[in-house]
Amino acid sequence: MDLDAFQAQMARIYGERDATRGIAATVAWLAEEVGELARAVRKGTPDEQRHELGDVLAWLASLAEQLGLSLDAAAARYGEGCPLCGATPCRCR
Ligand SMILES: [Zn+2]
Repeated sequence: MDLDAFQAQMARIYGERDATRGIAATVAWLAEEVGELARAVRKGTPDEQRHELGDVLAWLASLAEQLGLSLDAAAARYGEGCPLCGATPCRCR
């Protein structure tokens, strides 16, 4: 699933509720999910880590949707290599 398709799917599933909750609450949920991912990386199983990666992506997609921005377009910043030096792999220090 590409990022635009994922963002659209999240908007279909949760968009109305997320818009009611608002951007500030979405950022708080995203931060909480990043914390859960950090814990899963340290102490979790691969299944738990995959679960938390999905949750972080879901909240990131919700935030992008509410900001009116495309997650796919955001990822494109890295599509041609490092956005600073242009190389793949990065040749910055
Ligand atoms: Zn670089």
